[in-house]
Amino acid sequence: MSEKDLTLVLIKPDGLTHSLTGDILTQLSAPSMEIAGAKVVSVDRDLAEAHYWEHKEKPYFETTIRYLLGEYHSNHRVMALAYYGEDAIATIRKKMGPTNPLVAKHDPAALTSIRAKYGSIEPVKNDDGSDMIINGSTVFLFFNLVHGSDGPQTAEYEVKLWFQPEDIAEAKRVQVAKPGSRFETVERIVREFDQAGNQLGEKTVLAWKKPAEQVREEMKNKG
Ligand code: GDP
Ligand code: MG
Repeated sequence: MSEKDLTLVLIKPDGLTHSLTGDILTQLSAPSMEIAGAKVVSVDRDLAEAHYWEHKEKPYFETTIRYLLGEYHSNHRVMALAYYGEDAIATIRKKMGPTNPLVAKHDPAALTSIRAKYGSIEPVKNDDGSDMIINGSTVFLFFNLVHGSDGPQTAEYEVKLWFQPEDIAEAKRVQVAKPGSRFETVERIVREFDQAGNQLGEKTVLAWKKPAEQVREEMKNKG
């Protein structure tokens, strides 16, 4: 029998703006999974960048961050959900569909996916309303409405980034360990070090995949 996953889903700002949360939740529903946590989050840049840290060097990074921040939809809210169940990571990824909404719309296996139904690709606009062009090419954005963790490690990192242990239904909290424990959330470490006047750089972001204690020790040793 496969393991049960605790995985993160985000309904991005356009999902809320277009009142699609009900439809998306219905579509994500499956007897093998349950919702273990749910909240509406007002996203700031630190959280958005921590979420998409693996894409930092990608040309689409800045627009993807702005999308999550709600800058294209005049809505700074995201709905964060933690789903728990057997194969929840894969089940949710399948229900979401491919990253690129156009691929989703043309993939026979993804025709009923969330991204095929509601997703779009649109040119990014400058402040004056003209299309943004970089290196001679129009910049496009994937408005794909939902995020789902792509593997067990990512899921653990992301659930801890968006949720506190007390946000997760009792039975599943064991997977999101208590503050002060070896697996306390990255967010809290960042806040502590920022308060102490330390600026966290790219190196630390990469270190976030390590247990908190190890990161903390490394930071202390750096002085
Ligand atoms: P996901 O896990 O299916 O969301 O896809 P990724 O983890 O690869 O990428 C994260 C997000 O970055 C996606 O949901 C898109 O919003 C954006 N993105 C990824 N690849 C591209 C791309 O080739 N072009 C553009 N414009 N955006 C992309
Ligand atoms: Mg991803």
